[in-house]
Amino acid sequence: MSQNAGNTSKVDKLLAEQRDYIAKREGGYRERALKLYPWVCGRCAREFTRINLRELTVHHVDHDHDNNPADGSNWELLCVYCHDEEHSKFEDFVRYGGSSEKRREAATHNPFAGLKDALEKNN
Ligand SMILES: [Zn+2]
Ligand SMILES: [Zn+2]
Repeated sequence: MSQNAGNTSKVDKLLAEQRDYIAKREGGYRERALKLYPWVCGRCAREFTRINLRELTVHHVDHDHDNNPADGSNWELLCVYCHDEEHSKFEDFVRYGGSSEKRREAATHNPFAGLKDALEKNN
């Protein structure tokens, strides 16, 4: 009789419950999206069947995985490649174009601020 055996099965049980939870949580909206929409990538129009369905993924339009309205308005079916592409675009958008940081900087930036220094240096 080993104490470890008991601990191991407890951990196994926890892991199994965790897997179940994740599968249900992910399976939930994926199943619903696949029932709602034709199995076609929304970007490249590649068509899917049961055979390759695992390569068709559910993208969240607003990138919030917890936003799963019943009408499917936040879901888009994308193949894995287009899905990757969509996310790298979104990251670029957040990093470079999505924040108003740059625009604000430009708006408050005084184009003549450095001019006086520059003129003095040149003379
Ligand atoms: Zn695609
Ligand atoms: Zn996505």
